[in-house]
Amino acid sequence: MTGMTSSARPLLNRRLAEFGTTVFAEMSALALRTGAINLGQGFPDTDGPEEIREAAVRALRDGRGNQYPPGPGVPELRTAIVAHQERRYGLSYDPDTEVLVTAGATEAIAAALLGLLEPGDEVIALEPYYDSYAACIAMAGGTRVPVTLRPHEESRDGVTHRRFRLDLDELRGAVTDRTRLLLLNTPHNPTGTVLTREELAAIAELAVERDLLVVTDEVYEHLVFDDAEHIPLATFPGMRERTVSISSAGKTFSFTGWKVGWVTANGPLVSAVRTAKQYLTYVSAGPFQYAIAEALRLPDSYFETFRADLRRKRNLLGDGLRAAGFEVYQPQGTYFITTDITPFGEKDAYAFCRALPERCGVVAIPNSVFYDHPDAGRSQVRFTFCKKDDVLREATDRLQHLAS
Ligand code: PMP
Ligand code: GLN
Repeated sequence: MTGMTSSARPLLNRRLAEFGTTVFAEMSALALRTGAINLGQGFPDTDGPEEIREAAVRALRDGRGNQYPPGPGVPELRTAIVAHQERRYGLSYDPDTEVLVTAGATEAIAAALLGLLEPGDEVIALEPYYDSYAACIAMAGGTRVPVTLRPHEESRDGVTHRRFRLDLDELRGAVTDRTRLLLLNTPHNPTGTVLTREELAAIAELAVERDLLVVTDEVYEHLVFDDAEHIPLATFPGMRERTVSISSAGKTFSFTGWKVGWVTANGPLVSAVRTAKQYLTYVSAGPFQYAIAEALRLPDSYFETFRADLRRKRNLLGDGLRAAGFEVYQPQGTYFITTDITPFGEKDAYAFCRALPERCGVVAIPNSVFYDHPDAGRSQVRFTFCKKDDVLREATDRLQHLAS
């Protein structure tokens, strides 16, 4: 295959020309081929709670969801999502008109952008951005406008950490008359940044002032550490009516393969997203929807234990990476650590990640692919810590050989 027809016209739609295979697929394939430890693609190596797995089996056996579920999602899941938003954040939604179940957050992002954008609309996204944002903005005919998160030093309790922060002036300066939508992600993949109450308040003010829609990807809402707090943007004044909030069961319950995601927003916004979603998958994951309805009602202790476990794993991997010689940006959320490879005298994250399995049997993700400004992220490499402790230990042991 040359990718060309006889008329020499490229087969691939030109909007997708810059998007080849996703870096996650490429790096997971590399891990399989080389037998390296995969700290690239973010998926846990331990499944979520046994009782939730059993709930899915029960739904399958009882014939719940084996045929097309209702378009907006099964009522049990929609009411569980509404109860979760109310209990956690004090946000109320109508389960019939203000909730939409999707095939993972990925479909929610796609449907939101396809449903809300006109060709030529500008979309502001925080760079480095999750890769599907760029592809979906392009499929919708929009223009992406990146605002770069930049490293800062922050001291707290006598400890200095390097972290990524949003420059609010840069964000304000990026808004033009063509800006339709802010596409946010907090906690942020890949940097682990959790936007603060002050930052979110400023973003909300800007969105109201410039009459912008906001799509906010909050799939890591339960994965926050230390004193960081996840605050949904929809809770700020003037935001409920302009915000499409997206989340997913994949991260919170460690079932990334089930692909159950959801949208909460006011009726007109959900209706726009649903219009696009109907023609993408129509519906998905019937039996899993029933199981996730149960998962969302797990007691607080589940969420607390999960978070404490991941915080410990973050420290384990972070300490190992520092000892190996990486510059580590301390994440306050997600299950990723971004590092810098400049201390090894290396500058090209992509080349580094391609060679890493050969050099020491570990796979990671080059953040450089998540930037429009390649210089900003050229030497950044991301590792995930949603793996068993002994896997993390073995990986960091292997990485100690890098400096030699
Ligand atoms: N958004 C972000 C920021 C992610 O990291 C991911 C990765 N899994 C997704 C969306 C996709 O979520 P899902 O697997 O539910 O489609
Ligand atoms: N969200 C996961 C990550 O960032 C991977 C999802 C995917 O493979 N598309 O690693």
